Amino acid sequence: DAALVWCRRDLRAHDHAALYHALKAARRVFVAFVFDTEILDALLQQGQRADRRVEFIRDSLVDLDRQLQALAQRASTPGAGLIVLHGLARDEIPRLARELHVQAVYANRDYEPAAVARDARVRGALADAGIGFHTSKDQVVFETDELLTATGGPYGVFTPYRNAWLKKLDGFFVQPYPVAKYADALAPLPAALVAPWNGERVPTLAAIGFEATNLAQLKILPGTAGARELLHEFVAERIDRYEDTRNFPAVKGPSYLSAHLRFGTLSIRELAGIAWDRMRGGSRGAEVWLSELIWRDFYHQVLHHHPQVDGKSFRPEYDRIKWEHGKHADELFAAWCQGRTGYPLVDAAMQQINQTGYMHNRLRMVVASFLAKDLGLDWRRGESYFATHLNDFDLAANNGGWQWASSSGCDAQPYFRIFNPVSQSQKFDPQGKFIRRYLPQLAGLSDAAIHAPWQASPVELEAAGLVLGRDYPKPIVDHALAREKTLERYAVVKRAS
Ligand code: FAD
Repeated sequence: DAALVWCRRDLRAHDHAALYHALKAARRVFVAFVFDTEILDALLQQGQRADRRVEFIRDSLVDLDRQLQALAQRASTPGAGLIVLHGLARDEIPRLARELHVQAVYANRDYEPAAVARDARVRGALADAGIGFHTSKDQVVFETDELLTATGGPYGVFTPYRNAWLKKLDGFFVQPYPVAKYADALAPLPAALVAPWNGERVPTLAAIGFEATNLAQLKILPGTAGARELLHEFVAERIDRYEDTRNFPAVKGPSYLSAHLRFGTLSIRELAGIAWDRMRGGSRGAEVWLSELIWRDFYHQVLHHHPQVDGKSFRPEYDRIKWEHGKHADELFAAWCQGRTGYPLVDAAMQQINQTGYMHNRLRMVVASFLAKDLGLDWRRGESYFATHLNDFDLAANNGGWQWASSSGCDAQPYFRIFNPVSQSQKFDPQGKFIRRYLPQLAGLSDAAIHAPWQASPVELEAAGLVLGRDYPKPIVDHALAREKTLERYAVVKRAS
């Protein structure tokens, strides 16, 4: 009997739940990935022909194909490899399953509403052909209903969720799936699928309608190989100091593994297992890092139990807020997107996302707060900008982050807590190192003046060769006034509750 493993956000051949279950159950196992035109066409329609995620996936598939070949070689069953298709996944997978005469398709569960709907259609189409569809937990440590409160509901507050998560964790939940042990079931590819893309197994970017990005220049290494390099460096050099360094964007503090976690080039079990071991060995840094991985699970369970957060506020009363709209609001939004707000930390952060597709966590909080609480713009505008630009874009974490910053979310920042973009800058980029990296026109200002150039003396501005309004914008809003306006704007929430 034969099976097909459908990879989506799990681009690795080790510690992979669906692959393991398929290899154990069937004698011939094929592995496929579909460049889903439903997703890709939306990017192309927005004019996003150069998309770092598409390139990251494409290059990670080359790595995955190599891993599958190596596994099969070692198991003395050469000829296996990855099947890569381009089309509507909901049609392509049932078609391929029929063509390969498999009895079952295996996949790892994806909790995003659009993926849930797609998988339901695929399940139906497969059932019509008498083919099974088996899904497994793989993307998170604890999913859906595995952690519930004493009254049987989902958690709405992070700290008790985290405590319950840590209490439930034992070696079983972080144990790797021993894929290699069963790799002799990997099936050789049928002749037509050996090298279908112009002699290659994986299509070029051009073959699927995309262009190269600056991924290689940024030294963002794709695939499990790239992920391992980052993980090794983080665990060997930084994890124990994570708590002290993670808030400073100019310091190499965090792991930079988010895109790898998004596309599953590493297993969350492995990362959680490493952090958990280290934490039990007394590392405070590892404990705090593990908490971040738990936030990731937390937001996935929020999205699962409350899929309406994709579009609506978690707390419905927050949808009564009247956001700024019209031409002036559009101009403010454009200034935010392009890093022209006149607040250096905000602008440097927006340069970081625009140039690299990454943004430091502290800065994500600062720019999100700035959009909602300084500019008075609907958080969904910022959320969708992040969705198109972040290499690690993940609906659950992104929505959770935006609703946290705008105060509308599950266990969010209280609405009256409003980040001051200048004091955040003084506190977390005290010497302006991060600002200078992304806004070289401000490099000549002193450490004291760089956070608020409009407050610098004319002498200092002249010495720095800086003319405000020409070389760098004047602030587009006054923070103190904006703060008052925001408290008024959010008053509808207080009245509603
Ligand atoms: P590390 O600090 O090394 O953390 C390790 C991992 O933990 C991350 O890779 C990530 O998978 C997870 N993690 C860390 N913080 C969070 C968090 N607050 N919520 C959920 N998971 C977390 N993260 C995304 O992966 N995708 C997003 O689209 C995303 N959008 C965000 C939007 C906003 C407004 C905010 C405030 C945060 C967002 N985050 C998002 C969370 C966080 O900023 C990133 O995960 C982190 O900056 C990635 O860098 P790192 O891999 O070096 O993280």
